[in-house]
Amino acid sequence: MKIIETIDELRAQVKEWRKEGFRVGLVPTMGYLHEGHKSLIDRAVAENDRVVVSDFVNPMQFGPSEDLASYPRDLDKDAKLCEEAGAHVIFHPEASEMYHEDFSSFVDMNTLTKGLCGKTRPIHFRGVCTVLTKLFHIVGADRAYFGQKDAQQLAVVKHMVQDLNFDMEIIGCPIIREEDGLAKSSRNTYLSSEERQAALVLSKSLKVGKQMLEAGERNCKKILREVSAIIEKEPLAKIDYVEIVSWPNLLPVEEVEGQILLAMAVYVGKTRLIDNIIF
Ligand code: AMP
Repeated sequence: MKIIETIDELRAQVKEWRKEGFRVGLVPTMGYLHEGHKSLIDRAVAENDRVVVSDFVNPMQFGPSEDLASYPRDLDKDAKLCEEAGAHVIFHPEASEMYHEDFSSFVDMNTLTKGLCGKTRPIHFRGVCTVLTKLFHIVGADRAYFGQKDAQQLAVVKHMVQDLNFDMEIIGCPIIREEDGLAKSSRNTYLSSEERQAALVLSKSLKVGKQMLEAGERNCKKILREVSAIIEKEPLAKIDYVEIVSWPNLLPVEEVEGQILLAMAVYVGKTRLIDNIIF
């Protein structure tokens, strides 16, 4: 497995693969890889001849008061995980390689990015769409793999690929959880042991929401009231949002009909965690 730091070298590598007729899969990440990322890489390895894992903490998707500087990084550990999973290249560029000094072009979206995480992270999806557009152009993959953990991102990327005619398939993969239910996340590393325990309210409250849905409850207000009440009982947790929207259009819904996304962002101490279910 190679670690590639420049766009030119990555392009040359993919060109070689294309000459061989290889199908190429891409797994975009911000590094500090865990089992959730590994599930995406495993699937990419199973479905493609060559796999690129991008490992880049994208400054453009962080707001001014967010955790860009403290975001965890460990390239050696990431390389080991990627190698063991059978990936062929880690693309690990410096920020200056991705964004030259007078960089001034952006990709944004009018729908899908305004609600949910977009409310408190107004520039986040512009950064995500821009960096993914660049990665999609640089790699020219046949397929790219995304986790349902970031459900809004998955919906946004699928929509962007359709809007802008990227000739590639976007594959959504299920959420990987710790044994006790906490969704795996690079940000879990910020949690103290007390906060780690408190963070279980996300998956626990979603489970109650799912049980209500399975029992036939269709009134979103009722479901959201129950789910929020569970989170509010946890003193270390503070709700950013808990919402039910249609999936994958992310439109407001009052009565559950068709597929819905029950999604939440919750601060546990200073750490903002997200989780969701699609029903
Ligand atoms: P990140 O490094 O957090 O930007 O995540 C990179 C990709 O891994 C995104 O598509 C995420 O949705 C996905 N991912 C992160 N955590 C998980 C998880 N627990 N289960 C499944 N996919 C995940």
